Amino acid sequence: MLNRDYPSQYCPVASTLEVVGERWTLLIIRDVFLGIRRFDDLQRDLGVARNILQARLERLVEEGILVKRPYQERPVRNEYRLTEKGADLWPVLVALLQWGDRYGLEGERPMILQHRGCGGELDDRRRCVACGADVTVTEAIAVRTGARRPQTVAEPVSA
Ligand SMILES: [Zn+2]
Repeated sequence: MLNRDYPSQYCPVASTLEVVGERWTLLIIRDVFLGIRRFDDLQRDLGVARNILQARLERLVEEGILVKRPYQERPVRNEYRLTEKGADLWPVLVALLQWGDRYGLEGERPMILQHRGCGGELDDRRRCVACGADVTVTEAIAVRTGARRPQTVAEPVSA
């Protein structure tokens, strides 16, 4: 297993990546921002192995990024909520989304960020392009457009 830390780096970028840089972790955080908060829903949305999802969620709770909240007694079932520390990752996710729109994807945009109740999109400073407001995490909504990965012409599957 790969180490997740960077012992030779005294650097805030490296220290952030030690917390959120593992595979799946930022996508779990993305999903919680989208309102997908329960283990089975996260597992279904991500298609990740249950043991990996469990380990990532436990780590995020240990790090104070997510907190467990019961939504059902008998049996107790928990959902995951962002703490303030977790919600402060919102600009990171917005930046990743916008960078991906610009450089990462070909084809249509699968997710757009809008100013809730206004419908304006967010610019790269998280400002609403329609009304000019600085949009906070609670004032934004992420809309999944339904765009799919473009189908490439059938190529033989190789490893
Ligand atoms: Zn607006």
